[in-house]
Amino acid sequence: MTLQPDQAKREVFASHRPTDSEYRAARTGLLRGALIASTLALCIGAAALGMVPPTPGAAELPEQILRQDVVAVPPGAALTEDDPAPASQPFIAETRIRSGDTLATALNRLDLNDPALLAFLTRDPKARSAYKLIPGRTVQAAASQQGELQWLRYVHTPGGEGMGRGVARILEVRPNAIGGYSASEIEQNTDSLVQVAVGTISRSLFAATDDAGIPDAITSQMAEILSSKIDFLRDLRRGDQFRVVYEMRGHEGRIVGAGRVLALEFTNQGKKHEAVWFSADGISGGYYSLDGENLQGAFLQNAIKFSRISSTFGIRKSPMHGEWEGHAGVDYAAPTGTPIHATADGVVEVAGWKSGYGNTVIIKHRGKISTLYGHQSRLADGITPGTRVSQGQLIGYVGSTGWSTGSHLHYEFRINEKPVDPLSVVMPESQPIEPSQREAFALATSPYRQQLQVLASFQDNVQDVSSVARR
Ligand SMILES: [Zn+2]
Repeated sequence: MTLQPDQAKREVFASHRPTDSEYRAARTGLLRGALIASTLALCIGAAALGMVPPTPGAAELPEQILRQDVVAVPPGAALTEDDPAPASQPFIAETRIRSGDTLATALNRLDLNDPALLAFLTRDPKARSAYKLIPGRTVQAAASQQGELQWLRYVHTPGGEGMGRGVARILEVRPNAIGGYSASEIEQNTDSLVQVAVGTISRSLFAATDDAGIPDAITSQMAEILSSKIDFLRDLRRGDQFRVVYEMRGHEGRIVGAGRVLALEFTNQGKKHEAVWFSADGISGGYYSLDGENLQGAFLQNAIKFSRISSTFGIRKSPMHGEWEGHAGVDYAAPTGTPIHATADGVVEVAGWKSGYGNTVIIKHRGKISTLYGHQSRLADGITPGTRVSQGQLIGYVGSTGWSTGSHLHYEFRINEKPVDPLSVVMPESQPIEPSQREAFALATSPYRQQLQVLASFQDNVQDVSSVARR
C-alpha cells in the first residue's frame, strides 16, 4: 500500500459523510457569504471612520456587492417541475444582519420602505426579538407578484434548543386584516447532520481537533463529557487519541451551529474512556459509558473549565507538594480572574479568608469528602457558608491571595479534612442506567458502538500507513 495518510483519511470519511449535496452547496455558499459579509463589514467600518454623512440605507455601497448579499430565490426553486402555478409563488429576498445595522438599514436592503412596518417593529412587544439585531443572522421577506409584503422573518436563533431537539426560533411579521401588522414567534425544526472525526494529540487537544475540522463547541463538549475521568488541563499526553461522532445543525440549507456529541472514545495515557449520549424520553438525557455507567455524577477532575484559553495556561503541576504545613494539593497556574467551578455537588462550609490559603472556599460533599479552592482573587456572588452548590457551579475566581507567589488555583481533595491524592481514592459511584432501561440503552447505543469501532480500526490503519511512510 502506498496510500498517503491524508488520502486514506479523505476516502474513509467520504463514506461516512452524508451525501446530501444541498448541504455541501449550502456550506460553500455560507463560507462565501461570510467572506462577503466580512469584507462589507470592513468597508462599512472604514466609511464610518471617514465620517460619511449618515445617508439612510445602503445607497453608498457599491451596487455590485449588494446584489450578492440580497439573494432573490427564483420563484420555481422550491417547486417540482410539474407544479402548475409558479406565478402565485412569492419572491423571497434575504439579507444578513451586518454589524452596525439598524432595523431601517436592514429593511432597506430588502426594499421594505413602509414607515409603519418600521414603527411596528420598534414598538410592538411581540416583536421584541427584532430589538436586538445579531450580525450574521438572516432576515427574509416574501412579496407577492404585485410587490405586497406577505411576511417578514427574522431568524434570530437559528441554532436553538427546545424539548431535546434542535430548533430555529424565528420572528414572523405579517400584514393583518385591518391594515397593520401582527407579529408572532415561530419555531422550525433544524436538520441534524452526523459527522465523525478522529485525531491524535501531538501538541494540544485543540490543535488536534482543529486539524480534524471539529468546531470548538464540540471540543469543549468532549472535555466536559469526560471531565470526571480526565483532567484535560494536566493529564493529556502526546499520542492520546480520540474518535468522535457528533451532530451539526442545519436550517434552510445553512449550517447553523454545532449540535451535541453523540459518541466519544478517548484514549488517555493508554486508558480508554468511552461516552455515549442516551435519552430515555427523547427530551433530557446524559452521557454514559458503553457499560451504562453514568459519567455525570462523580467528581470533576478539574475546577477550571477546559477551553482554548485555559489549555494554553501552561499548567504548573505540583501534586501533593508541601511548601508549608497543611498545604498539600494541586496547583493550577491560571491568570487572575479565571473562573473556578465546584467539582461536585455539596454545601459551602468555608467562604472567606483562611490564613495561608487566602480567599478560600471549602465545599462539603457526601461521605466525609470536602474540596478546597485557595488563593482566590474573589469569591463568586452568593457563595457563603451554608450555600448549596452544584457540580460545575461558579464559586470564585483565580487569584494570588495568601501565601502565594503567583496567580494560581490551589485545589485540595480531602477526606476527613486531610488532603489526599484524588487519583488514589475510589470515587463514590454514580447512578448507572436503570435496569428497566438497559435494553433501550443497548438498542439506542449500538450504532455508536459500531461507528466507534469502524473509526478505531481506521485510525489504526492510518497509523500503520504513516509509520510505513516514515521508514
Ligand atoms: Zn498549592
